Amino acid sequence: MVRHRLMTPGPTPIPEAARLEMAKTLEHHRTPGFRRLLAEVLEGLKYVFDTTSDIAVLSSSGTGAMETCVASVVPRGGKAIVLDSGKFAERWADICEAYGIKVVRYEEPWGKSFEADEVARLLAEHADAAAVYATLSETSTGVGHDIEGIGRAVAASGALFAVDGISGVGAMECHMDDWGIDLLAVGSQKALMSPPGLAFVAVSEAAWQRIESIERQAFYFDLAAYRKALAGPDTPWTPSRPLLSALAASLRQIREESIENVWRRTATLARATRAGVAALGMELVAERPSEALTAAFLPDGVDAKAFLARLEGRFGVKLAGGQGPFSGKIIRIAHMGQIDELDILSTLSAIELVLAEMGQSVKLGSGVAAAGSVLLEEE
Ligand SMILES: *Cc1c(COP(=O)(O)O)cnc(C)c1O
Repeated sequence: MVRHRLMTPGPTPIPEAARLEMAKTLEHHRTPGFRRLLAEVLEGLKYVFDTTSDIAVLSSSGTGAMETCVASVVPRGGKAIVLDSGKFAERWADICEAYGIKVVRYEEPWGKSFEADEVARLLAEHADAAAVYATLSETSTGVGHDIEGIGRAVAASGALFAVDGISGVGAMECHMDDWGIDLLAVGSQKALMSPPGLAFVAVSEAAWQRIESIERQAFYFDLAAYRKALAGPDTPWTPSRPLLSALAASLRQIREESIENVWRRTATLARATRAGVAALGMELVAERPSEALTAAFLPDGVDAKAFLARLEGRFGVKLAGGQGPFSGKIIRIAHMGQIDELDILSTLSAIELVLAEMGQSVKLGSGVAAAGSVLLEEE
């Protein structure tokens, strides 16, 4: 018998209070009780996103929020700049192309980050770009991008700034209003510690003006419909009330701890994880690491598929592997949300044991010791 330990960068473990909410009798959603629930969720999300903007709550996975940030905001035939250095950044470009939008790519190799100066240069060259699409935490590479710096470059232009914060928001600092973010896309199943199935788009005043002035290419994902319903507050279509009840409980937990403390605690876990994998001779993928997850190369000669299967079969530890060019080469460990110090230490311990079982020369305890030292320093 082994206990299952979910250590993937989405979905992440869900607090018990949130899980219990979903067992309650379902009530109808066009009621004062539902409006109170939605109002509470919106307040909690604004607190976590650090914004006073309106927030659309969608019944979809995170990609639905990304699609909304494209379909409601850039007209067919318009132009967008996409900051592309990973699987999820690529998705921005794919969505734009699906809507007939011309994409200008600022590409960097996977694992690298972007220069705000280069974004400014591209915006000068493409003054007709309607929006810039970026990613806070690139979950395929474990990079945390400089959204604050890039936001300054975009603010000096006429373009809107859209950020995929799906794995980053709630795990690392993100100040929507101060950083000049016009559209922030977030999902429920990462740092917000909720089941998959809800997504959010926070919309700045500048973005609302754009949305209301263009011919939008959306119906279910038309932000104008969400704005109209927010007067209730309501959602334009049937909301997932059980998921919203669960989210409300998770947001309460974040508020009790305070978002600043969540960021601090997550950053410490990130440092401990990085120290642990480095002590095991594993190189980091990210030149500028995200606080939400750590991506690291497996030692040469270790088959990633076999390694991950063994980690899960023998110890119940579920990690994510690599995508695209990193398929079969890297592992990704989450340290956001409900994941705590002992989760990280036990994961590192399991990694050491499986590496040793697979014939690698690792000193048992070396990864755990390195991570433990970081945790002690922080006390
Ligand atoms: C998980 C994730 C997504 C995709 O979300 P889905 O919920 O699978 O649609 C998009 N971007 C980032 C950065 C993610 O981590």
